[in-house]
Amino acid sequence: MYGISSSVSFVKGYRKSFLINFKNLDIFHINNSEAGELIKLIKQRFFKEEEISSDLISFLKEYRMIYKINSKITQQFPPKKIEYNSKHLIEYLVLEHKDDLTVQKALKICSFFKIPHLVIVTNNDLTKKVNSFLINNSYPESVSIVSDNVKIYAQENKFRILYIKKDTKPFVHIDSMELNSSLFLESQFSHNYFNKKIFIDENGNIKNSPNSDISFGNIYSYHITKVIKKAIFNPNFKKYWKVKKDICAICKDCEFRYMCVDDRIPYQKNKHEWFHKTACNYDPYTATWKELNN
Ligand code: SF4
Repeated sequence: MYGISSSVSFVKGYRKSFLINFKNLDIFHINNSEAGELIKLIKQRFFKEEEISSDLISFLKEYRMIYKINSKITQQFPPKKIEYNSKHLIEYLVLEHKDDLTVQKALKICSFFKIPHLVIVTNNDLTKKVNSFLINNSYPESVSIVSDNVKIYAQENKFRILYIKKDTKPFVHIDSMELNSSLFLESQFSHNYFNKKIFIDENGNIKNSPNSDISFGNIYSYHITKVIKKAIFNPNFKKYWKVKKDICAICKDCEFRYMCVDDRIPYQKNKHEWFHKTACNYDPYTATWKELNN
C-alpha cells in the first residue's frame, strides 16, 4: 500500500491545476484531465498500487510524493487537518514615509501592538533611525525598506532590516506569484492582502490599502495607540479580512488563488460571493497572462 505525503497539495483551477510538494518546493502546472485522480488520492491519503494509473504512480514516486506503508498501520495516521492561526492582532503595518515623526510613530505602534512586520516605502535612508529603535525593542521583528532609490535598495540587508526595490509592475503579474507555505495556508482562510494589515498613506491616513477611500484616523493624532486600537476593533476596518479568494468571482476558479497577493478591493455581490471591478492580468478560463499576449 502507498501513502501520499502530507506536504502534497492540489489546487484545481478552471482550466489548469497545480500539484505542489511543499517539502521540496516542487510545483507542477498540470492539465485538468488528471485532476480527478489526484484529488481522490489526496483525499483518501492511502491507496493500493492498482487504484491509480502506472504513469501517475511513477511520476509520484520520482518526485517523492508517495511512500510505501503497511496497510495495518494506516489507521494510526489521522486525516490531514488544515487550520490557520496567528497570535498577532496585526501582522503588517505599511507606511508611506513622509517625515521622521511618522517613522517614530509607526515603530512605536509596532512595538505597542506587537506587530511583527513593518514596511516603509521611502526614498530616504532611514537605517540609523530604524536600527536605534530595533536595538531596544523586540517589535517590529523586521523592517522592510522599499525604495526606488538605488542607493537605498542596493544596500546589503542587515539583521532585522531588509532593502527591497520598489516594484513598478502591476500588483499581480506572473513573477509576483509566490509558492510559500504560510501564504498558501493563510489564503485558504483569509484575504491574504487585507488580513491583519494597516496601511498608512503619505498624509498619515490609517487605511486598509492605498486604494481605500475610508480613513480610520491619522498617525499625527496625539493618542496614536488609542486611535489604532479603535481602528483595529472597528468591524469596517476588518471588512475584507475574511474575503478569501475561494469566495471571489473569477479568483475562485484560478489555480493561483493561494499563491497570489492581490490588492484590488473586493465588493460584495451577494451573501456568498464577492467580485472585483477591474480585471486581473491572468485569465483562469483561458490559462493565459495578459502580458504574454502583448
Ligand atoms: S484571477 Fe485572482 S487568483 Fe488568479 S491570478 Fe488573478 S487575482 Fe490572483
